Amino acid sequence: MSALDSLSLTAIPPEDEALRGEVREFLARAMQGVPAHVRAKSWSGYDSAFSRELGRKGWLGLTLPKEYGGGGRSPYARYVMVEEFLNFGAPVGSHWIADRQSAPLILKYGSEAQKRFYIPPICRGESFFCIGMSEPNAGSDLASVKARAIPDANGWILNGQKIWTTNAHNCHYMIALVRTSGTAEDRQKGLSQLIVDLKLPGVTVRPIRDLSGESHFCEVFFDNVRLPADALIGAEGKGWEQVTAELAFERSGPERLYSSIVLFDEWLAFVRTPQGRTREALELAGRIVAQLAPLRAMSIAVTGKLAKGESPIVEAALVKDLGTGVEQLIPAAIADDLYSRQPQDIPMELLHTLDYVTQVAPSFSLRGGTRDILRGMIARGLGLR
Ligand SMILES: Cc1cc2nc3c(=O)[nH]c(=O)nc-3n(C[C@H](O)[C@H](O)[C@H](O)COP(=O)(O)OP(=O)(O)OC[C@H]3O[C@@H](n4cnc5c(N)ncnc54)[C@H](O)[C@@H]3O)c2cc1C
Repeated sequence: MSALDSLSLTAIPPEDEALRGEVREFLARAMQGVPAHVRAKSWSGYDSAFSRELGRKGWLGLTLPKEYGGGGRSPYARYVMVEEFLNFGAPVGSHWIADRQSAPLILKYGSEAQKRFYIPPICRGESFFCIGMSEPNAGSDLASVKARAIPDANGWILNGQKIWTTNAHNCHYMIALVRTSGTAEDRQKGLSQLIVDLKLPGVTVRPIRDLSGESHFCEVFFDNVRLPADALIGAEGKGWEQVTAELAFERSGPERLYSSIVLFDEWLAFVRTPQGRTREALELAGRIVAQLAPLRAMSIAVTGKLAKGESPIVEAALVKDLGTGVEQLIPAAIADDLYSRQPQDIPMELLHTLDYVTQVAPSFSLRGGTRDILRGMIARGLGLR
């Protein structure tokens, strides 16, 4: 039994819900014996062989057209699958970004040749992408990116730096937001998106160690990197519009509410034992589920908008802001609960899991856009800015 089982407030179409049993069965076998503190990494966990196995099962690129190797299914089907991956803490980090946003971006803005070249290997779990947006002085203020690509006879020459690039050291390609014309004062104008092959001469990838001691994101330097003309994705100078659409894909999934779900389940398992069951713990469990359940309904409603072909930018920002709040509440509240108990009663694996999630929790409301930025978007959606 998992916390997920008690959260069903909104219907998912039965043909998509039907996928859940098969995915659960597979994951129950694949994840058997993997300790909770490892499963808690989930979409930060990297396992390229696991991604290839999902590709063989036809579970990557689920919403992409079959002609490019995708599954041709609805966003609801992908929601069910992703929800199960997160719930089991499957190591999905290697294909995560390519599946979630790079392939849909290429599908939306790429040329036919780009679609045929890049999307099928993504669906096979063989080609991994990273997001080249942030720079040392351009995070929230993304329009001030300084990496610059200058056109030349053979394509582009790229110089500059990206930072906090998740998994760049394990990826084949980056989709980078860069300036291709104008100056920094032009802001959103003159930006473009380029697909950068990270093996090219002039690309240096340097992993950064985070608070938990792991190196999952990187600095990436471009020193006169020569890119072919068809590295440009979409139209030159339209990078801002494209990146905005990409961020809606990035923010709209259930990963923005379930980052602490493995910890929550591990703690619930303890609360179900005689030593773990206290009145305060039962109240806390109810409080957390009462927040997760409506959030899940909202998150599914965002998927409904994707299914209608809409780009739910403000709605995704709202769910992400509220969702990361609950993701951060869970480790803090569980730590308070465990602090009031006898140390010898607390299972060691629960403590290991709490330790890991507590260390990474501050990043939940930074990655994918900070809370302040999301609230600015919500205010704009309300016509207040
Ligand atoms: C785990 C993790 C993974 C990441 N992966 C990637 C990745 O793969 N690719 C990528 O490109 N980036 C990635 N990032 C970077 C992330 O997108 C940025 O950290 C984020 O956008 C914030 O930018 P910044 O770090 O430059 O902080 P800043 O923009 O300098 O913000 C600092 C603080 O000021 C606040 N602030 C800034 N502007 C305003 C404003 N206008 N109004 C009110 N408050 C404001 C912010 O909310 C924040 O609290 C990742 C970050 C993390 C933590």
